Amino acid sequence: MLHYSCDACKRPIHPHNDVRHVVKIEVFPAVEDMSGNSSTMTEEADHLDAMHEILERMGEEDLPFDDGARSLRFDLCDACRQRFVKNPLGIKTGKQLDFSNN
Ligand SMILES: [Zn+2]
Repeated sequence: MLHYSCDACKRPIHPHNDVRHVVKIEVFPAVEDMSGNSSTMTEEADHLDAMHEILERMGEEDLPFDDGARSLRFDLCDACRQRFVKNPLGIKTGKQLDFSNN
């Protein structure tokens, strides 16, 4: 039997008593689409060349190309889920939001 625990407070999440909430965070670079502008065939070719160079470098170094993209997944208990949706980035507001919890 699988046992889950909250990734925020480490409290075990009991499958029958608690609701386990899954948080998925996708981080990836936003690429501006320039195709609507005055894109020429030459620019397209340059772009393809650049992509080819990147692919070649990937093969040489045998390392994953790190474009900053991350896919994160967390399990949260109900209490931490409520805290998370109020402040997903954990930004300190100066207000004591947690006081009303208990
Ligand atoms: Zn928790």
